[in-house]
Amino acid sequence: MARVDSVTKLLILLFAVLLLVWLLFGRKRVPRDTAGPDRPTRGGTTASAEGMVACAYCGVNVPVSEAVHRDGLAYCGAAHRDAGPPPGHAAGER
Ligand SMILES: [Zn+2]
Repeated sequence: MARVDSVTKLLILLFAVLLLVWLLFGRKRVPRDTAGPDRPTRGGTTASAEGMVACAYCGVNVPVSEAVHRDGLAYCGAAHRDAGPPPGHAAGER
């Protein structure tokens, strides 16, 4: 019966060591693992919720990254950028 006691002691010691290792290393990983997947998901959401700007020529809303800028105005494409703002749109004109 003395044998069983020594084996049980060894198992308890092993469990204690494993618990200590988990407390030291396992716990630290948890915040990193939870923070990791959150960021890519958030980034994808922000990409779709990107700011929209209205074309100065036709008024169509286009994502900021796809808009063409000229003279401080945003356009939906190069064609409308080259066409410029429609007559009467210029500041000062009523
Ligand atoms: Zn346009």
